[in-house]
Order: sequence, then C-alpha cells, then structure tokens
Amino acid sequence: MPACAPAPARVTRDARERPSTQMRRARQAPLGRCMYCLATGGPGIVLTEEHLVPRALGGRLTLRDAVCEPCRRLTGRREQLTLDREFAVPRTLLAMKRRRARAKGPSRLPPVVIEGGDTSPVTLAADAFPRTFALPVFGRAGLLAGVDRAAMPARIDFAACTLDLGTIARRTAAAAPALPDPVAYAYAIAKWAYALAVAERGPRCGDTRALRDLMLGHREDVFAFVGTAPQHAPAARQWLHDVAFHEQDGWLVATLALFASAGMAPYEIVIGRSTAG
Ligand SMILES: [Zn+2]
Repeated sequence: MPACAPAPARVTRDARERPSTQMRRARQAPLGRCMYCLATGGPGIVLTEEHLVPRALGGRLTLRDAVCEPCRRLTGRREQLTLDREFAVPRTLLAMKRRRARAKGPSRLPPVVIEGGDTSPVTLAADAFPRTFALPVFGRAGLLAGVDRAAMPARIDFAACTLDLGTIARRTAAAAPALPDPVAYAYAIAKWAYALAVAERGPRCGDTRALRDLMLGHREDVFAFVGTAPQHAPAARQWLHDVAFHEQDGWLVATLALFASAGMAPYEIVIGRSTAG
C-alpha cells in the first residue's frame, strides 16, 4: 500500500454487522491532461472531471481536468450500458438509501426479475425490492494467467451480494443478469480501475499504453486485462468499494473490490507494465 494512502479503518463490531456503504479516500489532484489520449488542455481542448467510480454506484471522488470531451463520450458509452444493466439493482438500492436519508422514497424503481419466480420482470414497492443481487465473476485476467489476447473470459459465474439497508417486507433476490455483453461490463471495470490507478499512483504509474488503447477502442481483448482475483486476495468488507495495487510478473495490477461490503469478490485488473525498479 502506498505511503499516501490512509491506514484502513479498524473494523468495529458494528461495521461487521452493518456493512459499510462508504468508500476509502484517495488522492485527488488536477491531472491537467486527458488520462486516455494524454492530450493536454489548451486551445480547443477542454478537460473536465472524471469520476473514479460513478456517482450512481456511490462514488464521490473525481479527478479534476482529467478527460477531454471526445474521450469522455467514447469511454462513457459502455460504462453507461453497464450501469443501466448489470448494476441496475445495486444502484437502485444505493439511491433508495440516499433518498430515504432525505425522507423521500425513490420516485421510480426499475422492474426486476426475481430469483425463483417468473422470468418476466415485475415492479415491486421499495419495501419488497430485492436487497440481494448478483454480479459476474470471471477467471483470472489473461495476462496474469498466461493467455495473451483474451477477448472472452475463461468462465462466467455469478456471486450473490447483499446490501443491508434495513428491514424488508418480503425476502426477495434479484435474478442473476444474463450478462449479454461481457465485454462492455469488463470495459467498465477496467475504466474504473484505471481512473483509480491514475488518481492514487499518478499518470506515470506504469506503461499504460495497452490499457489506454483498449479504452479508446483500438483493441477488444478486455479479458486480457480484467478478471476475478484469486481466492487468497484480501477482502475489504469494511468499505463499499476499495482498491489496492500490487506488482506481479512486471505488471502493475489493481485489485478492485466493488460492493465489497455486500460480499462481492474483488476484480483484478492489469493496469500496465510496471515502471518501478
Ligand atoms: Zn482524450
């Protein structure tokens, strides 16, 4: 863990009982260049902020002056598809929590397919909306498993996640999504991991050309970069999301624990060739 990162909070008894929806802090300095195409700001190039993890998933941290307009549009497309599809239930639950804090129920809940029920989506009231959902887990990233150009994952399974947001009227679980577009999903995971790497380790955190090529659509082998971390990876259940970095076989690797406090297995993302040492 880098010296600049705060020490992980001690897990209290209470934190274990009510898993957190907080996220650990990260360094946030203006970048002054597009993190994808590396264009610096200037005449005709306007840089805007980039979210490290989308606000829709509870991310509050942004990197200022970090993305140019064409790259923002290009990289945001698959991210949005994924947020609207695989993350529809968890993001709705987080919105319910936020809005309940303001004493106002969510205005509209998306239809969901209930586990063990009919395969057609149903609309449920907030107190019956599923607290349990599933997110995909994969094999290891191709580059870490010794497979060079992985356009598809070695395997796709689903892990059950539970967000504890208080009592519910009816115990329901959202059915596992079919994952119609694994590439778009993994692309979104890679994008968030890359943004977190740039925020925590700086834009020169490694030779990130291959991952930036992927972000800009110049290559499609996203599962060379994205996989699920092996079992022995440390869990970070005191945070909603968390990230850690390590080096392996000359690669800088991010372990991205999305919905860690909900019980999700961490993803492992190859950020680039390590330039350390
Ligand atoms: Zn750009």
